[in-house]
Amino acid sequence: MTYQAPLQDMLFVLEDLCDLSTLATLPGLEEASPETVAAILDEAAKFAGQVLAPLNWTGDQAGLGFADGAVTTPPGWKEAYATLVDMGWNSPTAAPDHGGMGLPAVVNACIQEMFNGANTAFQLCPLLTQGAIEAISHYASDDLKATYLDHLVAGRWTGTMNLTEPQAGSDLAAIRSKAVPQGDHYLISGQKIFITYGDHDMAENIVHLVLARLPDAPAGVKGISLFVVPKFLVNADGSLGAMNDLRCVSIEHKLGIHASPTCTLAFGDNGGATGYLVGAPHQGLPYMFAMMNSARLGVGLQGIGIGEHAGQVAATYAAGRKQGGAPGVEGSVAIAQHPDVRRMLGLIKARTQAARILAYRAAAAQDIASRCPDPSVAARAQRRLDLLIPVVKGWSTETGNLSASLGVQVHGGMGYIEETGAAQHLRDARITTIYEGTTGIQALDLVGRKVIRDNGTALAELVEDIRASRTRLCAAPGADFAALAAMLAQVIETLEAAGDWLLASARQNAQLPAAAASALLELFGICLGGWAMADAALAAAARQARGDAGTLPGRQMRLAAFYRTQVFPQAQALRVMATEGAETVLALTPEDLGAVA
Ligand SMILES: Cc1cc2nc3c(=O)[nH]c(=O)nc-3n(C[C@H](O)[C@H](O)[C@H](O)COP(=O)(O)OP(=O)(O)OC[C@H]3O[C@@H](n4cnc5c(N)ncnc54)[C@H](O)[C@@H]3O)c2cc1C
Repeated sequence: MTYQAPLQDMLFVLEDLCDLSTLATLPGLEEASPETVAAILDEAAKFAGQVLAPLNWTGDQAGLGFADGAVTTPPGWKEAYATLVDMGWNSPTAAPDHGGMGLPAVVNACIQEMFNGANTAFQLCPLLTQGAIEAISHYASDDLKATYLDHLVAGRWTGTMNLTEPQAGSDLAAIRSKAVPQGDHYLISGQKIFITYGDHDMAENIVHLVLARLPDAPAGVKGISLFVVPKFLVNADGSLGAMNDLRCVSIEHKLGIHASPTCTLAFGDNGGATGYLVGAPHQGLPYMFAMMNSARLGVGLQGIGIGEHAGQVAATYAAGRKQGGAPGVEGSVAIAQHPDVRRMLGLIKARTQAARILAYRAAAAQDIASRCPDPSVAARAQRRLDLLIPVVKGWSTETGNLSASLGVQVHGGMGYIEETGAAQHLRDARITTIYEGTTGIQALDLVGRKVIRDNGTALAELVEDIRASRTRLCAAPGADFAALAAMLAQVIETLEAAGDWLLASARQNAQLPAAAASALLELFGICLGGWAMADAALAAAARQARGDAGTLPGRQMRLAAFYRTQVFPQAQALRVMATEGAETVLALTPEDLGAVA
């Protein structure tokens, strides 16, 4: 059940496919030279493998304690958290003037993949804190920044996101929590459910970011405001004061991430919890949407990290477990030698690497969008980021689930038994396609906001880049590159056809794109994964040409060929499902679907 961060693959993607050296010329990122980044990632990999990974299984088995409204984390978690913050891993991208490392988002993507891969239940706490830091840095007043930011960046305090209520999950327009003005603050009341790390014992204070409605709020999504609501009130001198009027009512018993507290929080049982408005009234949802790119990228990286970990455990087991024979071999052989087991491990490896490349490219686009001095380059990068995010979140987490399921299958019966750890990966991966917007919601975002509303502009720019990759492949010698170039010709044709179909069908019947959305999200993932793997093969060949005699280039080229024949052909079926199948989805009646009265 060990985990080793795939440093070699990560550095290859960073340097050869995300052009880290050029990113390090952006204002504020000058320190992030490839050498410095390699040293930082080396340290992060040690922390992931030596501290977080051993707690993954023990935390899952021990679970959480809950008594008198207080959550206790499993043995070893407080100490691991203290080490995390001591080493500065709590918020790697936070600005240095608030005590952060100021690392590029693309480097943070590697760190988040490692830490989530090692121990998702643990890493959710820093992930949520990073979201709170981002919200306060971008939208809060200077006073709120001065009170909260340094503590959050240092990890003395942690953050949460309080969106969900019993009647408001995917549909945040239904939020009912209230905020009533009271002098220089607001009184917050209402119930929030499923709040990750809503209570715990690893930090001195918890800063809840809460969506609620002001008394004069318009109905629906335009009437939601964002508030900072600390667990312990903060005195004028910065010291901690009384407990706020909020409490953790219960924690959920869940399928996976057993060591991550999922809390029901009651605000204002005794008149109202003290809260402070972030930014302008009624702007809560736009602020949340602006932060969503980072949060969704973070959850996509969870899918990649868990998939990687599941693949490592499965490959290790397959190398040791002997069953059956093989031609020309006396006695039984390791199951890794059987072609079907190799196929399963290959699927995990190839899809995980494709998803990794896409996710890191999205993070690189985030760096360019937020830092490039040329406004047109920054705007194009922002469009790229916006287009990629639903694919990264949706496809990477679906890939994580597939990988964890294949990991169980590789283990045979032992995969179904908890001790191997394979089952935990499957249980932990399952939430990643649900929170931070389900795969269905990502799919609607992709087709609705990112393609139709954008009139296909960002998609056309992306296709331009894929065309450039294809041109480079056509110029490369050999049948392997010709085959990858042919795959990219199909990718281009498929994405253009999907975009045209979406724009035309949206004019005809708005329900058609919704019915096709999930198939299109998977289609985009598989096509863009093909593009990523083809680029990886080219970059690997270039490494070989520069004299790299290691195992990485050959592996990347074999995985790209495997992806082309074992993953990419699904694109054709998905295209039919989306474009020819949408009407059949809409034709199903409630009686056809078998709800029990
Ligand atoms: C372990 C865990 C941790 C969580 N952490 C947090 C947290 O920290 N903070 C927080 O605020 N929330 C958190 N959540 C809540 C999570 O974000 C929601 O569960 C999620 O957004 C889905 O909402 P829902 O559960 O109400 O499902 P629903 O919205 O009821 O969705 C049910 C199904 O219907 C589909 N569906 C819903 N609406 C549409 C639509 N318009 N079109 C197509 N399909 C649709 C969905 O895709 C899904 O398949 C957490 C949940 C869990 C289980």
